[in-house]
Amino acid sequence: MTPRILSMTDLISLEVGQDFLDRFERICEFLGVEPDLNVTVFECSSLEEFNQMTGMGYHIGAVYVNGVVYTQPFAILKKKECFEDIILHELLHHVLQLNFHLPHWAEEGIILTLLGTKPEEIFGYHRECLLRFSEEVTYEEIPHFVDRYRRSHLEHR
Ligand SMILES: [Zn+2]
Repeated sequence: MTPRILSMTDLISLEVGQDFLDRFERICEFLGVEPDLNVTVFECSSLEEFNQMTGMGYHIGAVYVNGVVYTQPFAILKKKECFEDIILHELLHHVLQLNFHLPHWAEEGIILTLLGTKPEEIFGYHRECLLRFSEEVTYEEIPHFVDRYRRSHLEHR
């Protein structure tokens, strides 16, 4: 078995479709950012490979690092019925890092809030981030909150 490497654009057209894209674009509009899809997806061929590549336990479905999303085998995530949400979660790390200098806990908290993740559905670090964020910022306040961390256009050059 070998890993599969594909672009985010291909993943969307092959695996998830227009509804996913609409959902992503609505969130980007809410955040006031361009819906950037310039991401590579690295689908590990097995859980062992995922663990070796990322150092993550099996309760983490995917990881975003510098423009690349490393995922567990798609079939496993689909079986757990979390495939779309996990891909969208990682894609939001990408657009948030591209546009804002957010503290990591806030970045995680924003994504979990935007995707409607409930604290009882998660544990460990993710749960801490969600609880901390929800104590400080409501859903409606997210655009105003992220604006304070927006990168200047000069940085992109
Ligand atoms: Zn995350």
